[in-house]
Amino acid sequence: RAGKSIPHDKIETLGKNLRGEMIQPSGAAYEDARHIWNALIDKKPGLIVKCSGAADVVEAVNFARENDLILAVRGGGHNVGGRAICDDGLVVDLSEMRGVHVDPNTRTVRVQGGATLGDVDRETHLFGLAVPLGVISKTGVGGLTLGGGVGWLVRKYGPTCDNVLEMEVIQADGTVKTANSEENPDLYWALCGGGGNFGIVTSFLYQAYPISQVLGGLIVYPRSAAGKVLRGYREFMASAPEDLTVYAGLICTPDGTPATAIIPCWSGADLKKGEMLIEPLMSLDVPMMVAVQPMPFPAMQSILDDAFPSGTRNYWKSAFVKGLPDKAIDVIEEQAKGMTSPLSGLLVEYYGGAGGRKDAHQNAFAQRQSDFCIGFMPQWKDPAEDQAQIAWAQSAWQAIQPFASDGYLLNYLSAGEEEAIQAAFGPNLQRLRELKARYDPKNFFSLNQNIRPAA
Ligand code: FAD
Repeated sequence: RAGKSIPHDKIETLGKNLRGEMIQPSGAAYEDARHIWNALIDKKPGLIVKCSGAADVVEAVNFARENDLILAVRGGGHNVGGRAICDDGLVVDLSEMRGVHVDPNTRTVRVQGGATLGDVDRETHLFGLAVPLGVISKTGVGGLTLGGGVGWLVRKYGPTCDNVLEMEVIQADGTVKTANSEENPDLYWALCGGGGNFGIVTSFLYQAYPISQVLGGLIVYPRSAAGKVLRGYREFMASAPEDLTVYAGLICTPDGTPATAIIPCWSGADLKKGEMLIEPLMSLDVPMMVAVQPMPFPAMQSILDDAFPSGTRNYWKSAFVKGLPDKAIDVIEEQAKGMTSPLSGLLVEYYGGAGGRKDAHQNAFAQRQSDFCIGFMPQWKDPAEDQAQIAWAQSAWQAIQPFASDGYLLNYLSAGEEEAIQAAFGPNLQRLRELKARYDPKNFFSLNQNIRPAA
């Protein structure tokens, strides 16, 4: 959908109706406000509205609709494909809406739509609670939750979207709706995994769980042991309890040495038991470093933050590989040799557990049966490397295709992966298209992992 340009004669009135800040291209705050986590994305919106609350969101939505503008919605700005931002149109920026309120009696958490994972963890930890979110503290709850959401508690409690009890959502016509299992249940179903297609979520109500201290950290092996370590990891996960989530990564250490990392997080109540259970992961080969220890859950939630800084250039391709057969491991080992930037990573993440026991139609998140996810994640700084880095991810992804199962993790998709988006919705695509036709027939919310409205 092509939008019209910003009607400058009407901007003043919009500004008066807002409580938050309105940022125009000529403004001092513009450069900062238009940049997102991934520096590969360089877009120039016509107007950015930093909303102070749901009422500002309604103002901005009405303004965009009435003036036929392209509309983007920015949560944490961490979508690798840059779906938070647009050229020319209007950005509804939720980054000032980061309030979090914990109710320890019901173990529920009310979170504004622009909060980051770190915002939530900080408040819940005060009450010895945690919400199952993702693994990097600066990611936004908005995009992460709407796209599914996997992290250190995924095996135990399922994806984030299975742990949302209610959402307040602004629709394309500017109305406010509550979506939960009783009120607007179809909308609730679609929001839980359907991406940003069904409106702007101004608040989420999450279920939290009694998790305070976890046992986690890093076990680092030489890169030359990658094949052996990944085979050991696969065998280990086959019987690992769901209190234990473990990721593996072919990465470089901070001094640039190629390595193979195992990253466990035990969230069971008995940390001693966790220690015993994790022990075999420390002897998959001869480790270069073992740094596993009890820590507050928010510390675990930011243990990888430095590996994903803001402002570097990033491109991701990913695939599900069921069971992680030996030959797939051989491909992973071989493809990792093509990573030329020490910032890049090739991640192997295992999600098998609570989410997979539910029916694929439980909510819009269709990828709950999948187990190993392989992410090819080049990260670099020099724009001159763009083509080569992207080409590496694409060819490595091609090489794993013989072992890939259907579907993709919606949250990991880069820009322009239209077919993969449809495949990510899998068996839920048709119902999602019908609901899109009902709730957003004109595809007003189009800058997301987009679902075309059914005819
Ligand atoms: P944004 O770029 O702001 O938004 C992404 C999309 O969601 C856009 O289409 C936007 O319009 C929409 N959106 C955001 N907020 C709202 C809202 N409140 N209402 C309606 N629409 C909204 N994913 C995981 O599942 N687990 C992880 O552990 C994980 N780790 C990550 C680590 C890094 C470093 C990065 C860059 C990404 C990670 N992701 C992870 C992927 C991440 O969940 C998605 O990229 C997600 O889209 C980011 O959400 P955001 O709000 O930060 O992004």
